[in-house]
Amino acid sequence: METRQRSISGIYRGAPFHWVGDGFRVTNYFPSGTDFGPKISPYILLDYHAPHVYPPTESQHRGVGPHPHRGFETVTLAFEGSIAHHDSIGNGGVIGPGDVQWMTAASGILHKEYHSTEFARTGGTMHMMQIWVNLPKAHKMDPPRYQPIVASQMGQVELPNGGGWVRVIAGSYQGAKGPAVTFTPINMFDILLEPQGRIDLSFPAHENTAVAVLKGDVKINGATSAAALDFVLFENDGQDFSVEAQTETHLLLLNGEPIHEPAVQYGPFVMNTKQEIREAIEDFNSGKFGHLDD
Ligand code: MN
Repeated sequence: METRQRSISGIYRGAPFHWVGDGFRVTNYFPSGTDFGPKISPYILLDYHAPHVYPPTESQHRGVGPHPHRGFETVTLAFEGSIAHHDSIGNGGVIGPGDVQWMTAASGILHKEYHSTEFARTGGTMHMMQIWVNLPKAHKMDPPRYQPIVASQMGQVELPNGGGWVRVIAGSYQGAKGPAVTFTPINMFDILLEPQGRIDLSFPAHENTAVAVLKGDVKINGATSAAALDFVLFENDGQDFSVEAQTETHLLLLNGEPIHEPAVQYGPFVMNTKQEIREAIEDFNSGKFGHLDD
């Protein structure tokens, strides 16, 4: 089958930086920066914490205290710094540069997200991202699950001519597989391009696709420029596209098969109907999400 080039739908900036708790200074690309709705499904939220230097502190709680989630997954990517996580089903851990924690909230969980004790004590640069991945209706009430994924588990592909590398968090790239187990088909790649490095990507046209430029300057399809903090959303009119780096570049690629179901978000809950949101609030208020100490 002949393939054709995938064109750019738009290039977007996130909403103004805001604080999540006292530990995460993020810009929201969607849904509050821009509500891409079904064009970015199965992804429902992207908060990007650009590099920010924190002074040392004795506080063990720099971040966000216990709070609930239901109906989706939170995916936390650490690029620099280190983040600790604990949840009401007893999972916890610390992730550092290159690591990912993939938490399936599904039927409901409480968790807290802090700078790790060590990082808080020394201070330093924090650079991370959190992505929310929607679950299909059939799995929204599954038991919660936690996947700690360290950088060394990820499939890694060197690009031709020393052009850089691709680390596969989920899905696959040129035979290298990502360790994340997902409920719907997803490709999530962490990509580093050297100056003049180039990556060619191809996904079925019906799959939603976007590239977040975290660092550097790129040319897409040989024509359109994008730079750090740009979020490039593609159309569903073709398969192939290329990204060429002008300077050293860091990208995050998001691709996935859209979930064709209604989505209703209320704060930390994402369900299919308003009634299910009311049930989530009631279940949370009556303690059905379990318990988690501060
Ligand atoms: Mn959370």
